[in-house]
Amino acid sequence: MQLKIYNSLSGEKEIFQPIVEGIVGMYVCGPTVYSNVHMGNVRTFMSFDFIYRTLVFLGYKVRYVRNITDAGHLTDDGNIDNDRFVKQSRLEKLEPMEIVQKYTVDFHQVLEKFNLLPPTIEPTATGHILEQIELTQKLIDSGFAYESNGSVYFDVFSYNQKGLNYGELSNRNIEELFANTRDLDGQNEKKNPQDFALWKLASPAHIMRWNSPWGPGFPGWHLECTAMSTKYLGEKFDIHGGGLDLKFPHHECEVAQGKACNGTSPVNYWMHTNMLTMNGQRMSKSTGNYINPIDLITGENNFFEKAFHPTIVRFNFMQAHYRSVLDISNDAMVASEKGYIRLMEAMKVINNFDTQSFKNNESQWSVKDWKTNTYNALLDDFNAPILIAHLFEAVKTIFALKDGTLQINQSDFELLKSLMNSFVYEVLGLQDIEENNNEKLDQTLQILIDMRNQARKSKNFELSDQIRNQLLEKGIELKDSREGTTYVLNS
Ligand code: AMP
Ligand code: ZN
Repeated sequence: MQLKIYNSLSGEKEIFQPIVEGIVGMYVCGPTVYSNVHMGNVRTFMSFDFIYRTLVFLGYKVRYVRNITDAGHLTDDGNIDNDRFVKQSRLEKLEPMEIVQKYTVDFHQVLEKFNLLPPTIEPTATGHILEQIELTQKLIDSGFAYESNGSVYFDVFSYNQKGLNYGELSNRNIEELFANTRDLDGQNEKKNPQDFALWKLASPAHIMRWNSPWGPGFPGWHLECTAMSTKYLGEKFDIHGGGLDLKFPHHECEVAQGKACNGTSPVNYWMHTNMLTMNGQRMSKSTGNYINPIDLITGENNFFEKAFHPTIVRFNFMQAHYRSVLDISNDAMVASEKGYIRLMEAMKVINNFDTQSFKNNESQWSVKDWKTNTYNALLDDFNAPILIAHLFEAVKTIFALKDGTLQINQSDFELLKSLMNSFVYEVLGLQDIEENNNEKLDQTLQILIDMRNQARKSKNFELSDQIRNQLLEKGIELKDSREGTTYVLNS
């Protein structure tokens, strides 16, 4: 078993060799929690959820760190007035920390709907201010950073002069960068426009600020990921991931900070997921070309003809490789729904078969070959669409078994059943829709029970009896007791 991962640093698929045999340290850049996540963000986190699930399925013990950026993320021009949290808190008339709380909760709720597993550690930038101050000091002491007007900047020019090669991850020629950029923020605080903030001075009006050796301020965005990844995974760790748009400058800066601080490139395998597009354009809040997860699930949008269950959306996303662009569309979602229904029908068939009936069979279909193909798909840079194609081969087999047009022996059947369940539920993270329908039924019945109790309270016994009797006709029996009213489904 040899896992291959496409490493953005080398631009090649490489054999995956973890630093410690059997154990993987993986860091993924989390959301900046100043607004609701859109489906593009969800795609990136879902891709890493699939990668995480696959690593666990393949037998690795994974420490999966995904941070929450809850401070210090400036808009691209670097102007302090454009701190995203401060800007949003003014807009919504809330404390910046209320903004953080509101959108962190939203982020978790959305990911849960799409059945993403939580990371094993979810650290926050504000919880690691001390570590960031220490790193900044270390960079100043070693000549890689300088203080200017209460802010501290990473000195890209001096880093490069030491032969450390700024631009290695994003394949940028630093000389060109130096020649072609101007200092746009006009503050002339930086020696060179490429220098990036490790620490930013904050005025008293800026609520989210901390004391530091350079005065009150807040950390730069790039530094938090270096602080948290090295704290929990070490100075050098296995996998670092994020969306393709984070490669430059964010991840390039992380490489530079890591090398400058610890004298070693921090990450062995850089993984970048490709973008979700809509109408052929990258999904993004700033351009207005986006769809909110909740609007997609409820159907309250002008883009899709109907509502789609989160597991259908998940199945749709899994049908594209994580390094391919995926264009979200009504037709593709409808096709995914059809595919999902067929896949789940097959799961019902295979999970309800009487295995005794396979006892004396000869196998006419090789489950072992099929297993090899499915594993090869996963081992080849986490190829979910190829895995799904193999699952549909198995679906054909399962229906042929049901119709009696094909035979396999009992141990092959058990293997097929166990693998299908693992791939569908554990690795792809799909869910049965019916289970959630039960939840809906429960909520609906609770509404009817409340209405009946209201009717009884106001002595409208005609209505209360009508509710009880009509439910009974449908096989739902209400039972009153001192604790309240419950229901029983009579089959
Ligand atoms: P942010 O909160 O802006 O840092 O974004 C969170 C994650 O979503 C990052 O890894 C981004 O690369 C990713 N992301 C943003 N837009 C898209 C998109 N249209 N498709 C896929 N991923 C995206
Ligand atoms: Zn990051």
